[in-house]
Amino acid sequence: MEFIKNISERAKDIGEKAKEITKRSGELLEVTKMRYEISKLEKIMVNNIEAIGELYYRKFKGEEELAAEIERLCQATQGVEQDIQKLREQIEKLMPKPAACPKCGTELPEGAKYCPDCGTKVAE
Ligand SMILES: [Zn+2]
Repeated sequence: MEFIKNISERAKDIGEKAKEITKRSGELLEVTKMRYEISKLEKIMVNNIEAIGELYYRKFKGEEELAAEIERLCQATQGVEQDIQKLREQIEKLMPKPAACPKCGTELPEGAKYCPDCGTKVAE
């Protein structure tokens, strides 16, 4: 009886572990998707800024009634920039940066007690 109980508890343990891993890989997939989204948005930004530049130049050469179009494009571009920023913040939340040495800023390996670079004690 004890033996059977142990097995079912172990199975539950593994189940929890698997759930954790699934959650983790789900997050990684999410981060990959967000990175892809960012690269798309960055391309849109480059295109917009190029278009804004062209419109400004045409305005400079005397073409009229471009101000509204420039304004619209600038607004849209700012929106895209904010979306990129939001996505970056979400990625940051899902993938926190590893701890760094307070003295020299070197990234610390997990569980490090001393900085591998300058030797500063970092564990409390
Ligand atoms: Zn250090």
